[in-house]
Amino acid sequence: LADPKDRLAHVLAKLRERGYRVTPQRRAILDAFVASEEHPTVEQIFRIVSGRFPNASIATVYKTVAALKEIHEVLELEFSQESNRYDARRPYPHPHVVCTGCGRVLDPELSHLPAIEDEITRRTGFRISSHRLDFYGLCPSCQEEDARGAEPGGP
Ligand SMILES: [Zn+2]
Ligand SMILES: [Zn+2]
Repeated sequence: LADPKDRLAHVLAKLRERGYRVTPQRRAILDAFVASEEHPTVEQIFRIVSGRFPNASIATVYKTVAALKEIHEVLELEFSQESNRYDARRPYPHPHVVCTGCGRVLDPELSHLPAIEDEITRRTGFRISSHRLDFYGLCPSCQEEDARGAEPGGP
């Protein structure tokens, strides 16, 4: 996994190469995206950036996401009920584990993924180019909360 600083430099260079203008505000947005391991939403990035740029607009965040998508430097995770989440640290398909309690999204390291792809190819004849693999459940801190809530006399 690339260092956030290297990742930012890479994304900035690629944007400039494609003729995108990188304003200080857009740079701050990119910085917030690559610095986050939390798979942030557009709204979360907007909140971070508007601390430094009080005149920032959420439209600029959306435009920056669109630019990142165009240069294939962000992975977009769409959810039907929740806001989209973004992974600008690993902009390629990878498995996720999603907490149904608090909405945390993590990147589990899975060692068997290439074997699964091979098996799918063997069984279906498909040449696999991408995948979407999400696991859902309760994260450790939500499990704790759950257990506390279940205690007699608890809230
Ligand atoms: Zn949770
Ligand atoms: Zn991820």
